[in-house]
Amino acid sequence: MGGLVRATAVLTLAFAVMASQAVAYYDTPGLNGIASNLAGRKVTIRCLTVKEAVSDEVIQIWGASGYVEGISNPVTGDWFPNNYATLAPKICKGLIALSKGHAQGYTVDELVWSTITLTHEAGHLRGDWWSSNEARTQCWAMKHLRSTWNQLGYRDPALQSFLMGWALAQHRALPDEYLSVPCKLPVP
Ligand SMILES: [Zn+2]
Repeated sequence: MGGLVRATAVLTLAFAVMASQAVAYYDTPGLNGIASNLAGRKVTIRCLTVKEAVSDEVIQIWGASGYVEGISNPVTGDWFPNNYATLAPKICKGLIALSKGHAQGYTVDELVWSTITLTHEAGHLRGDWWSSNEARTQCWAMKHLRSTWNQLGYRDPALQSFLMGWALAQHRALPDEYLSVPCKLPVP
Protein backbone atom coordinates (compact mmCIF):
# COMPACT_ATOMS: atom_id res chain seq x y z
CA MET A 1 0.00 0.00 0.00
CA GLY A 2 2.90 2.35 -0.66
CA GLY A 3 2.47 5.36 -2.92
CA LEU A 4 -0.73 6.44 -1.28
CA VAL A 5 -0.83 9.93 -2.75
CA ARG A 6 -0.49 8.70 -6.32
CA ALA A 7 -3.00 5.95 -5.63
CA THR A 8 -5.61 8.44 -4.46
CA ALA A 9 -5.29 10.43 -7.66
CA VAL A 10 -5.88 7.47 -9.98
CA LEU A 11 -8.59 6.12 -7.74
CA THR A 12 -10.89 9.01 -8.54
CA LEU A 13 -10.35 8.43 -12.26
CA ALA A 14 -11.20 4.74 -11.93
CA PHE A 15 -14.44 5.38 -10.14
CA ALA A 16 -15.43 8.00 -12.65
CA VAL A 17 -15.02 5.41 -15.42
CA MET A 18 -16.83 2.78 -13.38
CA ALA A 19 -19.74 5.10 -12.72
CA SER A 20 -20.13 5.84 -16.44
CA GLN A 21 -20.72 2.14 -17.09
CA ALA A 22 -23.73 1.87 -14.81
CA VAL A 23 -26.11 1.05 -17.66
CA ALA A 24 -24.41 -2.31 -18.23
CA TYR A 25 -25.17 -3.75 -14.79
CA TYR A 26 -28.60 -5.16 -15.59
CA ASP A 27 -27.08 -8.13 -17.39
CA THR A 28 -24.55 -9.11 -14.75
CA PRO A 29 -25.13 -12.75 -13.79
CA GLY A 30 -24.42 -12.50 -10.04
CA LEU A 31 -21.57 -14.14 -8.14
CA ASN A 32 -22.89 -17.70 -8.51
CA GLY A 33 -23.33 -17.22 -12.24
CA ILE A 34 -19.90 -15.65 -12.69
CA ALA A 35 -18.23 -18.42 -10.69
CA SER A 36 -20.14 -21.07 -12.66
CA ASN A 37 -19.11 -19.56 -15.98
CA LEU A 38 -15.49 -19.50 -14.87
CA ALA A 39 -15.61 -22.99 -13.35
CA GLY A 40 -17.34 -24.50 -16.38
CA ARG A 41 -19.99 -26.11 -14.18
CA LYS A 42 -22.72 -25.09 -11.75
CA VAL A 43 -21.10 -23.87 -8.53
CA THR A 44 -22.05 -21.46 -5.78
CA ILE A 45 -20.28 -18.78 -3.79
CA ARG A 46 -20.78 -18.85 -0.04
CA CYS A 47 -20.33 -15.42 1.45
CA LEU A 48 -19.50 -15.64 5.15
CA THR A 49 -21.02 -13.11 7.50
CA VAL A 50 -18.60 -11.38 9.88
CA LYS A 51 -19.96 -13.58 12.69
CA GLU A 52 -19.49 -16.78 10.68
CA ALA A 53 -15.98 -15.77 9.70
CA VAL A 54 -14.91 -15.61 13.36
CA SER A 55 -15.38 -19.38 13.72
CA ASP A 56 -14.00 -20.19 10.25
CA GLU A 57 -10.51 -21.57 10.71
CA VAL A 58 -9.24 -20.89 7.19
CA ILE A 59 -10.47 -17.32 7.05
CA GLN A 60 -9.84 -16.43 10.68
CA ILE A 61 -6.59 -18.19 11.51
CA TRP A 62 -4.89 -18.55 8.12
CA GLY A 63 -6.15 -15.17 7.07
CA ALA A 64 -7.37 -16.47 3.70
CA SER A 65 -9.63 -14.38 1.47
CA GLY A 66 -11.40 -17.47 0.21
CA TYR A 67 -11.06 -21.21 -0.21
CA VAL A 68 -12.41 -24.33 -1.85
CA GLU A 69 -12.49 -27.68 -0.10
CA GLY A 70 -12.40 -31.01 -1.83
CA ILE A 71 -10.96 -34.49 -1.87
CA SER A 72 -7.52 -35.17 -3.21
CA ASN A 73 -6.42 -38.66 -4.26
CA PRO A 74 -3.04 -39.14 -2.60
CA VAL A 75 -1.95 -41.71 -5.20
CA THR A 76 -2.94 -40.04 -8.47
CA GLY A 77 -3.07 -36.46 -7.20
CA ASP A 78 -6.56 -36.11 -8.73
CA TRP A 79 -8.56 -33.34 -7.13
CA PHE A 80 -12.32 -33.45 -6.63
CA PRO A 81 -13.48 -30.06 -5.39
CA ASN A 82 -16.80 -29.36 -3.69
CA ASN A 83 -19.29 -27.38 -5.71
CA TYR A 84 -18.88 -24.16 -3.76
CA ALA A 85 -16.24 -21.68 -2.67
CA THR A 86 -16.24 -19.86 0.66
CA LEU A 87 -15.29 -16.19 0.65
CA ALA A 88 -14.38 -13.82 3.47
CA PRO A 89 -16.96 -11.10 4.27
CA LYS A 90 -14.76 -8.28 2.97
CA ILE A 91 -14.19 -10.04 -0.36
CA CYS A 92 -17.90 -10.67 -0.89
CA LYS A 93 -18.84 -7.14 0.07
CA GLY A 94 -16.41 -5.78 -2.49
CA LEU A 95 -17.69 -8.12 -5.21
CA ILE A 96 -21.33 -7.34 -4.50
CA ALA A 97 -20.58 -3.62 -4.49
CA LEU A 98 -18.83 -4.00 -7.84
CA SER A 99 -21.69 -5.99 -9.32
CA LYS A 100 -24.15 -3.31 -8.25
CA GLY A 101 -21.96 -0.47 -9.44
CA HIS A 102 -21.69 1.05 -5.97
CA ALA A 103 -18.02 0.47 -5.24
CA GLN A 104 -17.18 4.02 -4.17
CA GLY A 105 -16.49 3.06 -0.55
CA TYR A 106 -13.69 0.69 -1.50
CA THR A 107 -10.10 1.15 -2.57
CA VAL A 108 -8.98 -0.08 -5.99
CA ASP A 109 -6.66 -2.42 -4.10
CA GLU A 110 -9.57 -4.06 -2.27
CA LEU A 111 -11.74 -4.30 -5.37
CA VAL A 112 -9.06 -5.79 -7.59
CA TRP A 113 -8.11 -8.28 -4.89
CA SER A 114 -11.75 -9.34 -4.50
CA THR A 115 -11.92 -10.12 -8.23
CA ILE A 116 -8.63 -12.04 -8.14
CA THR A 117 -9.99 -14.06 -5.20
CA LEU A 118 -13.24 -14.93 -6.98
CA THR A 119 -11.42 -15.93 -10.17
CA HIS A 120 -8.76 -17.93 -8.32
CA GLU A 121 -11.33 -19.91 -6.32
CA ALA A 122 -13.30 -20.58 -9.50
CA GLY A 123 -10.07 -22.05 -10.89
CA HIS A 124 -9.94 -24.48 -7.96
CA LEU A 125 -13.61 -25.31 -8.57
CA ARG A 126 -12.90 -26.37 -12.17
CA GLY A 127 -11.41 -29.63 -10.95
CA ASP A 128 -8.96 -29.66 -13.87
CA TRP A 129 -5.62 -31.47 -13.62
CA TRP A 130 -3.97 -28.28 -12.41
CA SER A 131 -6.78 -27.12 -10.09
CA SER A 132 -5.20 -28.28 -6.84
CA ASN A 133 -1.93 -26.49 -7.57
CA GLU A 134 -1.89 -22.94 -6.17
CA ALA A 135 0.53 -21.52 -8.73
CA ARG A 136 -1.24 -23.03 -11.76
CA THR A 137 -4.61 -21.96 -10.38
CA GLN A 138 -3.33 -18.43 -9.79
CA CYS A 139 -1.87 -18.28 -13.31
CA TRP A 140 -5.21 -19.41 -14.75
CA ALA A 141 -6.94 -16.76 -12.62
CA MET A 142 -4.75 -13.96 -13.99
CA LYS A 143 -5.61 -15.04 -17.53
CA HIS A 144 -9.34 -15.02 -16.74
CA LEU A 145 -9.55 -11.79 -14.74
CA ARG A 146 -10.86 -9.90 -17.75
CA SER A 147 -13.68 -12.42 -18.07
CA THR A 148 -14.63 -11.75 -14.44
CA TRP A 149 -14.53 -8.00 -15.00
CA ASN A 150 -16.61 -8.33 -18.18
CA GLN A 151 -19.20 -10.36 -16.31
CA LEU A 152 -19.30 -7.83 -13.48
CA GLY A 153 -20.05 -5.17 -16.09
CA TYR A 154 -16.64 -3.47 -16.31
CA ARG A 155 -15.90 -3.82 -19.99
CA ASP A 156 -14.12 -0.58 -20.76
CA PRO A 157 -10.65 -1.48 -22.14
CA ALA A 158 -8.94 1.54 -20.53
CA LEU A 159 -10.46 0.69 -17.15
CA GLN A 160 -9.48 -2.97 -17.54
CA SER A 161 -5.91 -2.10 -18.36
CA PHE A 162 -5.80 0.14 -15.28
CA LEU A 163 -7.18 -2.68 -13.13
CA MET A 164 -4.76 -5.18 -14.69
CA GLY A 165 -1.84 -3.01 -13.61
CA TRP A 166 -3.03 -3.32 -10.00
CA ALA A 167 -3.75 -7.02 -10.40
CA LEU A 168 -0.24 -7.72 -11.70
CA ALA A 169 1.30 -5.88 -8.75
CA GLN A 170 -0.83 -7.88 -6.33
CA HIS A 171 -0.01 -11.11 -8.15
CA ARG A 172 3.74 -10.50 -7.98
CA ALA A 173 3.54 -9.83 -4.23
CA LEU A 174 1.96 -13.24 -3.51
CA PRO A 175 3.83 -15.89 -1.48
CA ASP A 176 6.19 -18.17 -3.45
CA GLU A 177 3.70 -21.04 -3.46
CA TYR A 178 1.51 -19.01 -5.84
CA LEU A 179 4.36 -18.10 -8.17
CA SER A 180 6.22 -21.39 -8.42
CA VAL A 181 5.35 -22.24 -12.03
CA PRO A 182 6.16 -20.21 -15.16
CA CYS A 183 3.16 -18.08 -16.12
CA LYS A 184 2.62 -15.97 -19.21
CA LEU A 185 0.83 -13.08 -17.53
CA PRO A 186 -1.60 -10.80 -19.34
CA VAL A 187 -0.42 -7.32 -20.26
CA PRO A 188 -2.22 -4.31 -18.74
ZN1 LIG B 1 -5.85 -21.23 -3.90
